Amino acid sequence: MATQPTVTSNAASADVNSTGLATAASAWIAERTAHFDSSGIRRVFDLAAKLKNPINLSIGQPHFDVPAEVKESMIEAIRAGKNSYSSTQGIAPLRERLLADIRQEYPDADRHLLVTSGTSGALMLAMLAMVDPGDEVIIFDPYFVMYAPLVRLAGGTPVLVDTDAKFQIDVQRFIDALTSKTKLVLLNSPGNPTGVCADEASVREVARICGERHVALISDEIYRHFCFDTPFVSAAQFNPDTIVVDGFSKSHAMTGWRLGFVHGPAPVIETMTKLQQYTFVCAPQPVQWAGLSALDCDVSPYMADYRDKRDRLYAGLKDHYEIVKPDGAFYMYPQLPGGTGQAFVERAIEHELLIIPGNIFSRHDTHFRLSFAASDEQLDRGIEVLQKIA
Ligand code: PMP
Repeated sequence: MATQPTVTSNAASADVNSTGLATAASAWIAERTAHFDSSGIRRVFDLAAKLKNPINLSIGQPHFDVPAEVKESMIEAIRAGKNSYSSTQGIAPLRERLLADIRQEYPDADRHLLVTSGTSGALMLAMLAMVDPGDEVIIFDPYFVMYAPLVRLAGGTPVLVDTDAKFQIDVQRFIDALTSKTKLVLLNSPGNPTGVCADEASVREVARICGERHVALISDEIYRHFCFDTPFVSAAQFNPDTIVVDGFSKSHAMTGWRLGFVHGPAPVIETMTKLQQYTFVCAPQPVQWAGLSALDCDVSPYMADYRDKRDRLYAGLKDHYEIVKPDGAFYMYPQLPGGTGQAFVERAIEHELLIIPGNIFSRHDTHFRLSFAASDEQLDRGIEVLQKIA
């Protein structure tokens, strides 16, 4: 990944203190952490903290608050003393409810479930459960920032496969990237950072080919409720061994509460459960009770709101930038008008607009990410700046 520094030894990366001596603590840092470079996004957040009245279109979280009834359920759970560890798999009522929904969706499949600390927790456990050193993991580029570092953390090699000009999967490129070392494929639709829903034909093909080649397939469905134009399509419809990761962060604005889940074939879920027992232990118990009530909450008005925001932003920018109109999530991924992403982001920041350069999500420095999880007033201010600097 272009944004990742290559560190050959810990000594080479050791910090040098004011007296010119390498600090001993730097030498303790494990090599695997060299693959974690979060400086790009952090720089934007640091700048955001300094601006007086920023237009923030950089954040990957809903701009609405947690629905009131969901907050109440969490408060009730805390008051009722449901504050201890839960079983590693998750509290029974939440598991039963999630499994009932999953069985309704996939009546013929034998799917097993684990409640996790966020979708990130599920992703990390899935990597540790399945990826051995030397294994290759296919990731479609552009991709969610966490994927490549997580693969490396597990000792695997991320293999980036470019999507086409509309950010759809190029099935031939995918086939060409498969080798005898391919262990796993990571699919995310609707996608972060593009907002694009993978078309049904390519999801079906990827799912079918993974099944045929005995390659594991993770489907990250955290934005499944955010499909604006066509119904959501899951790879699990076409490949019963698909490992689905999902969560409440985006659908219910619960990003700070850390609740996710994963469902899939027994050996994978059982191994992830074992790993969770010795790492996260369980998802926070009161949050699990809140999650149970969240499942009864109608989020469709929020989604309708996001569709309007998508339309508003797209209408304001389409004559000024090359944009693939997103049909899901709450991101737009326009092409840079020229120059580097960093230079463009700095120009935007001069106008108090916060956006994220595309090279955080891709090996290509050609696009930038906008989040339309913002008030209409913020969106209009953002559009004005982006028109000016196009
Ligand atoms: N997958 C994708 C595609 C995401 O965009 C995010 C959050 N930005 C996550 C997973 C992680 O979500 P969580 O808050 O549930 O860990």
